[in-house]
Amino acid sequence: MKLYEYEAKQIFEKFGLAVPKQIATIENVSELEDLPLNFPIMIKAMVLIGGRGKAGGIKKANNIEEAKKIVNEMFGLTIHGYPIKKLLLEEAVDVANEIYLSITTDPATFDLVIVTSASGGVDIEEVAKNKPENIWKKTLRDNPKFLSSDISNEAADFLVEKNPDLNVVKEKLSNAMISLFSAYQQSEAKICEINPLIVTTDNQLIAADAKFVLDDNSLYRQAPLLKSVGIDPKSKRHDVSEQTKYEAQAYGIGFPFLDLLENPESFQKDHDKLYVGLVPGGAGYGIFSIDEVVNIGNRYFDGKVVPINFMDSGGGPSLSDVADMFHLLMDHPATDLIITSRFGGISSCDIFIQGLIMSLRDRYISKRRMIPVFGRMVGTDLAAARAFLEKAKRESPDPLKDLHIVVGNQKIMADVIKDGIEYGFKNKKHLEKGEN
Ligand code: GDP
Ligand code: MN
Repeated sequence: MKLYEYEAKQIFEKFGLAVPKQIATIENVSELEDLPLNFPIMIKAMVLIGGRGKAGGIKKANNIEEAKKIVNEMFGLTIHGYPIKKLLLEEAVDVANEIYLSITTDPATFDLVIVTSASGGVDIEEVAKNKPENIWKKTLRDNPKFLSSDISNEAADFLVEKNPDLNVVKEKLSNAMISLFSAYQQSEAKICEINPLIVTTDNQLIAADAKFVLDDNSLYRQAPLLKSVGIDPKSKRHDVSEQTKYEAQAYGIGFPFLDLLENPESFQKDHDKLYVGLVPGGAGYGIFSIDEVVNIGNRYFDGKVVPINFMDSGGGPSLSDVADMFHLLMDHPATDLIITSRFGGISSCDIFIQGLIMSLRDRYISKRRMIPVFGRMVGTDLAAARAFLEKAKRESPDPLKDLHIVVGNQKIMADVIKDGIEYGFKNKKHLEKGEN
């Protein structure tokens, strides 16, 4: 769950970080009338995306006329696809220096990573690219509850070394890091970022921006914290905007789906690689399939095979649910091959194969993109499923020419995956030649 800046700042404040004085959040220009405005004020677009400053979503107003003009303009603005519906008004602070400070968890190792830089206010990615020596980074392997002052002092020393003007706020910098760390750990966050952490002209340290992402899996434990800043812990409002197009689509239909690729909507394929979509039977099988596709890709195919999604049918999907699961992956721009499996459990192989075949026939008729499907099915209603598959193959050989389902246990799943990948690479070459 991503928090809005004003919510994040309220939480930061509870942990001892200083933030600008919040005047109000408004959803309409008329609300300006009744507010006690102590100019200059900052007017900030409350959208759950960064880079607002560059897109015109952060402005300073020196009097009420300016404020009205800015507020009116901003309510008509869209930032990276997010319409502005709410503005935060804050008392502006006088900036002497801007610091970057963040705490995240490395998604691969689950280590905590603290990053800071005296070159704040700009994208940290830019600093990392152009002036990596200006970035201080520390990886913590033991997931400590609190940050030791040895580490925060080391970071503060680094910042002062890069900018001697910061010497007067050295202790405050060290304390701010300890506070942010506590906020991160106690709220079970995934990301806490302050950019910029402003050093004011009178040497105060103020968190002028706040990014805060909570772990959805621990939200139930964080209900008191969420409520304390006015968020309904059961609300979905934050999650929706974080979803990819395909995740949102699956959520709408009613099954769990995760994109493993970054930016799947504008994804650039590497043409040497094979991208594999997965329709597994159950969540555990879904995780296994991802690992196994990578494993087989590394062993036999030079590491050129990429699983693109996690999916779970959620126990006993209907015929149209199954069809929708396949449609979603065949519409996905990355997919070269689909690997699927049914392994007993609650769900019926018969419904599964009917849904799969329905999706292939529909796509064939409406000339939508067809993708080879390899898989295995074992379990409930197997005899009916086999009969349906054999009949369908006889009746409509063309729509089903790239459907390869092993019925029963005569092949292990690893071999099914390997066969599928081999076929996928051949098919891809064939298609690319055909297109040229
Ligand atoms: P972002 O672009 O979405 O990251 O939005 P920020 O909240 O970081 O605002 C962008 C920039 O506006 C900051 O880097 C600051 O330089 C500036 N800014 C934000 N708050 C204040 C303030 O209170 N006073 C002044 N003078 N500048 C501010
Ligand atoms: Mn910022």
